[in-house]
Amino acid sequence: MIFLVDKTEIIMKKLLTILIGLTATGLLLIGQTNEKSSKGFVMDKVVKSDKEWETCLTPQEFQILREKGTERAFTGEYYNHKEDGTYICAGCENELFSSNTKYDSGSGWPAFFDALDETKVKIKRDLSYGMVRTEIICAKCDSHLGHVFEDGPKPTGLRYCVNSLALDFVPIK
Ligand SMILES: [Zn+2]
Repeated sequence: MIFLVDKTEIIMKKLLTILIGLTATGLLLIGQTNEKSSKGFVMDKVVKSDKEWETCLTPQEFQILREKGTERAFTGEYYNHKEDGTYICAGCENELFSSNTKYDSGSGWPAFFDALDETKVKIKRDLSYGMVRTEIICAKCDSHLGHVFEDGPKPTGLRYCVNSLALDFVPIK
């Protein structure tokens, strides 16, 4: 009888060890799943101080991206640029616009009728210079890109008017 009790106790202990092991593995798996799913929605932000931005941007880029400047019309590198590829943020390389949505607005700045993906850019009301405009900001590094107007072509009717200096271009290989 004593022998039996001992054996039962050993079996119970073994079961308990297995149970604890399984629970731990389960919790670990749940943790990993959560991490994976949250990565799909949260963009890794790029946060830098003005000092850091000054070291990685040209003074002209800094003035546009970080001080919300506007380059002079018809002076930028990309307003008349017609290659196939992707326009990325000059501050953080976030992919912003496709050449498929680029069109000639005649304004002297690169114009797109849509962003590559709605998560790539943020828009914000801008009341500076006595005008009511909608500012376009890079969703990843919060840099100023340009303004969006509602006089664009179909299908969106939007004109994302972007400074060339806020962009870099990656051609399709
Ligand atoms: Zn950016």
